[in-house]
Amino acid sequence: MTFESDNLTIKKVKGNFKVPSFKCINCDKDIPWERLYKIFCSELCQEEAKYVRYHRKVIVEGKDKDPHIAVAIEVKRVSVVSGGYSTKDRKIPESIRVKVLKLAKNRCAICGKLGREVDHIKGSSNDIENLQLLCWDCHIAKTMQNHKLIKYSDPRLLDVILKNTELDKRVKRKKPIKICDDSLLWDSRRKKVNDDRKVSYFKNVADFIKKQHLYNSTNQFISDKLNELGIPTFSNLGAWDRKAVGIVLKFIDGR
Ligand SMILES: [Zn+2]
Ligand SMILES: [Zn+2]
Repeated sequence: MTFESDNLTIKKVKGNFKVPSFKCINCDKDIPWERLYKIFCSELCQEEAKYVRYHRKVIVEGKDKDPHIAVAIEVKRVSVVSGGYSTKDRKIPESIRVKVLKLAKNRCAICGKLGREVDHIKGSSNDIENLQLLCWDCHIAKTMQNHKLIKYSDPRLLDVILKNTELDKRVKRKKPIKICDDSLLWDSRRKKVNDDRKVSYFKNVADFIKKQHLYNSTNQFISDKLNELGIPTFSNLGAWDRKAVGIVLKFIDGR
């Protein structure tokens, strides 16, 4: 079996079907098949690449020293660097957010201005006593303060330093290191990355259909069979249908 994309490795085997795995454009790890687009392995990687593109773009435009933009850069950077260990646990359910807003009467706990940022007072517990409402400015100030206060004894310190070093390189290198760092071309390339991977997956499925000697059956029969065997669709949403099978079969020569 041959594959078009060098980013593709065989991961799991279902019967005679080999479920491939694609590498994250940002970190090179395998992308869980549950991800709708086979580009990034996680929201965090997507955000990290977005930050790199933003920072590169404002440097090119000569705006990175503008005080407002400098703050925006720092906030994005802090959230990406700290996100690695806290995004998931720190997510606050909407029902709790609403409660905090109501209790605080929409006022920032520090300065009294109107605010909408629900903040963890300490750690990541979503208990109502550990949450407070802050305005945007106070929230940024606190986030940055916390970031600076990371202690030498903190086990995350090494990760933070390594991540910062990597991001500095990606931001400052004249030529983008990764294709997702390219602020000019990424929008048009991201679709191509996903489409190319979809094609390579479809070829893989086509190959399977051929090996199973199914290609002379009706598209309906083939799609039922693929569903029955648990062959995942590319987006992992929904099931195979006649139309999707029709597209896949175009990759079988001489049909
Ligand atoms: Zn990743
Ligand atoms: Zn405030």
